[in-house]
Amino acid sequence: MTVSAEVGVPFLDLARVHAHLRDDILSDLSEVIESGQFVNGPHVAAFESAFATTCRTRFAVGVASGLDALRLALLAAGIERGDEVVVPAATFAATFEAVTQAGGVPVVVDVGPADYAMDPQGVEAAIGARTRFLLPVHLYGQMADMCPLRRIAAERGLTIIEDACQAHGAERDGMRPGAASAAAAFSFYPGKNLGAMGDAGAVVTDNRALATRLRALREHGQTRKYRHEVEGYTSRLDTIQAAVLLRKLPYLARWNDERRAAARFYTDALHGVGDLRLPPVAPRSLPAWHLYAVRTSDPERLGAFLAERGISTARHYPEPPHLSPAYAWLGRRRGSFALAEALADESLSLPLFPGITEGELDAVVDAVSDYFAHG
Ligand SMILES: *Cc1c(COP(=O)(O)O)cnc(C)c1O
Repeated sequence: MTVSAEVGVPFLDLARVHAHLRDDILSDLSEVIESGQFVNGPHVAAFESAFATTCRTRFAVGVASGLDALRLALLAAGIERGDEVVVPAATFAATFEAVTQAGGVPVVVDVGPADYAMDPQGVEAAIGARTRFLLPVHLYGQMADMCPLRRIAAERGLTIIEDACQAHGAERDGMRPGAASAAAAFSFYPGKNLGAMGDAGAVVTDNRALATRLRALREHGQTRKYRHEVEGYTSRLDTIQAAVLLRKLPYLARWNDERRAAARFYTDALHGVGDLRLPPVAPRSLPAWHLYAVRTSDPERLGAFLAERGISTARHYPEPPHLSPAYAWLGRRRGSFALAEALADESLSLPLFPGITEGELDAVVDAVSDYFAHG
């Protein structure tokens, strides 16, 4: 029954994803080397235009990372020192980093069970006189519920910036990231649904003035060469990374379909196994399945059991930002955000990537079933 488990299953196999693109990417890279143009240039412009089309937004502005996409989006949207930004407790540290590095103060709210994204009721309760922004995170690739957030933002005069760093190609209520907000920030960290071969990111928006400010901020505040309109940063999208992303972007939809098929396989096969709680999918939601994170009482022990069978897993994220030393100054103790803390304690992400085979998925399911049968 468990023979297939012995082949080993990687958590993510990027070499497999890139194998058929290798020659094209190499020829693009040699084109960049010939051109001598390593910042900006036609590859960056072409990628930005193609990515905006994919996101169904008017503009995309390439930057150096997902963190910079969030940070510069907040700055371009006019954040001022001391402004409060509502963030969810279940996220990667970068969401918090972006707020504080842009001069804001994170106001943390718990996530809801329907999608593990910021709970609109909690958001309303957290809004005070200094609140200026909502920063929902589309955790694991499923979009937050943008309709109530948009209503709250309109009523309270707040701006929404989306952390879409895990949600390339996700949809909910017929909307993609960027449709119901001032801007959405993406990361192209190599392991993301659309990944570069190094660090990269982008902001998408329908707002021309915001896009213009972003273009200045990423490049020393310049609106044209040596005209420094505002104080800026060095945070351009590398031309080499833009060339890689331009080659990979046409496959994003197919890769997401493969992720969805793998997620469906797990959901069918793992339903009712042991104490597992499978990832929720909200109505009218089409997650991009950046991660497939199951919940169980002892994820470390399940992870170790799977590792013995050659199956790699990961924990996203064992320490929520509000309980990390970096954010101790927020003064939030354990017990502050019940569901986010439960996710940190209980989540284990199973192997999921484009090109994962049915044999590999079977091996994971068999091993997980064995763990609960006699582990
Ligand atoms: C990856 C990620 C980021 C940051 O992206 P970098 O490119 O690593 O800076 C931000 N938020 C979330 C939710 C992420 O998963």
